[in-house]
Amino acid sequence: MNGRIIDGKAFAEGLRGRVAAKVAALKAGHGFVPGLAVVLVGEDPASQVYVRNKAKQTVEVGMASFEHKLSRETSQADLLALVKQLNADRAVNGILVQLPLPKQIDPQAVLDTIDPAKDVDGFHVVNAGRLATGGEALVPCTPLGCLMLLKDRLGDLSGKRAIVLGRSNIVGKPMAQLLLGENCTVTIAHSRTRDLPGECRRAEIVIAAVGKPEMVRGDWIQPGAVVIDVGINRVERDGKARLVGDVAYAEAVKVAGAITPVPGGVGPMTIACLLQNTLTAACRQRGLKLAG
Ligand code: NAP
Repeated sequence: MNGRIIDGKAFAEGLRGRVAAKVAALKAGHGFVPGLAVVLVGEDPASQVYVRNKAKQTVEVGMASFEHKLSRETSQADLLALVKQLNADRAVNGILVQLPLPKQIDPQAVLDTIDPAKDVDGFHVVNAGRLATGGEALVPCTPLGCLMLLKDRLGDLSGKRAIVLGRSNIVGKPMAQLLLGENCTVTIAHSRTRDLPGECRRAEIVIAAVGKPEMVRGDWIQPGAVVIDVGINRVERDGKARLVGDVAYAEAVKVAGAITPVPGGVGPMTIACLLQNTLTAACRQRGLKLAG
């Protein structure tokens, strides 16, 4: 790959290898294996694929995987009862309830019920609060993966001007908090931002998480800037289905100092970070320092 292209697939593979080595050390030194429970309600095809991949990769790094597949008609009370049961189960160190949920279930009620210590998606308000106040949080997987890729490429991020396009609770806001924690000067842009291209051009780091195919053009990018494209958009080109990011890659790659492709950039990092978070959660629950 061209040196400007950030290979998220290779980085994720390396991260999974490091997680697997630590899981093996936990098993050998402490006789316990971290466990991740994934709950799927209904038959959404994309969610089924995500859950299958999560379970497969969990097992591949040597952790225990607990899959709970519930029917689309499951009541909120029954789902909350399962989450409480998983909260109490010592073999389960991480709990993930796959979103979206069927309409009879309030996702916030589910997220609020997960024990924050086992909240490996990092969506619980306690973890969001800890991240915002500099505490020991479990951090949402996608922004955590973006930060790892950035630090791998740039090293110290102190003083860098960063822009985050998008302010969702799962990507944009935690991403901005992480960059602030690394001493970046952070702009958070959204659908009401005036002069988005101008704001973007001032940034040395651009994180695009808007869900708009190829919205960020090449002439929005400052020469040499590092561009992290979180977007995953399904589009049709020349009669074929394709995945594109939120950045017009062919234009931006000519200007950027480094850029993540779609696919093969941020995408593979998300599950690898979920495994890292499960390991981190397991070590904290057991009072062990291994996660590093
Ligand atoms: P979301 O909840 O829909 O949030 C989109 C954000 O982008 C909102 O804050 C919105 O602003 C902003 N926005 C929308 N249109 C805009 C425009 N024209 N100009 C400026 N800002 C605009 O999306 P999300 O869940 O954060 O996901 C964002 C993208 O990342 C999606 O493509 C999603 O598929 C992808 N994603 C990828 C991964 C991964 O594993 N790689 C994980 C999660 C998400 P307002 O707040 O003003 O509405």
